[in-house]
Amino acid sequence: QNIIISHKFCLPEPQNNFMNGKSLYLSSRTMASKTPVGFIGLGNMGSPMAKNLLKNGYPVICTDVFPESCNEMQVSGAQVVDTPADVAEKADRIITMLPSSPNVIDVYTGNNGILKKVKKGTLLIDSSTIDPYVSKEMAVTAEKMGAVFMDAPVSGGVGAASLAKLTFMVGGPEEEYTAAQELLTCMGANVVYCGLVGTGQAAKICNNMLLAIGMIGTAETMNLGIRLGLDPKLLAQVLNMSSGRCWSSDTYNPVPGVMEGVPSANNYQGGFGTTLMAKDLGFAQSTATSTRSPIPLGSMAHQIFRVMCSRGYANKDFSSIFQFLREEEGQ
Ligand code: NAD
Repeated sequence: QNIIISHKFCLPEPQNNFMNGKSLYLSSRTMASKTPVGFIGLGNMGSPMAKNLLKNGYPVICTDVFPESCNEMQVSGAQVVDTPADVAEKADRIITMLPSSPNVIDVYTGNNGILKKVKKGTLLIDSSTIDPYVSKEMAVTAEKMGAVFMDAPVSGGVGAASLAKLTFMVGGPEEEYTAAQELLTCMGANVVYCGLVGTGQAAKICNNMLLAIGMIGTAETMNLGIRLGLDPKLLAQVLNMSSGRCWSSDTYNPVPGVMEGVPSANNYQGGFGTTLMAKDLGFAQSTATSTRSPIPLGSMAHQIFRVMCSRGYANKDFSSIFQFLREEEGQ
């Protein structure tokens, strides 16, 4: 199911460097052909995403700074090269899936970056969650080299990435959306065009701010109920048939023993790391400041997840907020 929801929304313009939604270089890429696709960033998410491109018959040319990730992809049938510039030399459609803004800046504009060897008309799709203003800067820089940059961050964790069930939120020139969609549908169940470059990131940041607030609310609610003598499973059942129900309560409950197959059932291993959530809330905070939007709960959530990172929860799933609250109250 591919939905175009809106192309009117755009971010406010602190740097006045928008592309007005127009690509100067109408692509000479051969559409819908199975020419090689470049993939950079083969971590928790990137690796299963690149494997889904292979499954759909696209040759993949990839790289990562971790040799182990590259080896795994090579075994799966991808061609591994040394640097992002080498990927750009061989592919005219490239997807990046990197931790954060500095990694994206490095991979695109560094000494061995994509833009050192990018071919004219290349489609660059960044699926990392980064600062939307960095996405816009990358788009302007890519455009100077004759390439097209789109942001396409994802919702859905490692499981959704493996099952090709991700939701992509896409920002960039509308005339290039079909070309992006061709690849993204191999990796996701929903591909949503959000508007000009940076708007995919805007949608992602909003979603994750609400997710963080909902998770903290669920964790403190469950903790209070348990303190009041309620059985956690029963309390979750009541919430999930009442108005307090949310994704954090019915799909990703943070209390160990309430659900199977979620990080809380596995000592908060795997899933979506607290560091990554703190990073995304940092983007919510900075964009809220630049757009003068009050986000009292989003700001508080940012501080809570940052404190968790400094207290040993950095690499645990973000639902470990429940464990963090339990430990806090014992002091
Ligand atoms: P990850 O840390 O597992 O993977 C990132 C990969 O990028 C690593 O393999 C790393 O070696 C590689 N990398 C970093 N710098 C590089 C460079 N200069 N050149 C080549 N490779 C480089 O992260 P992830 O969990 O796969 O997340 C990727 C992005 O997706 C993040 O922005 C994250 O916020 C977002 N995201 C993650 C999830 C999730 O559940 N993990 C869900 C939705 C969105």
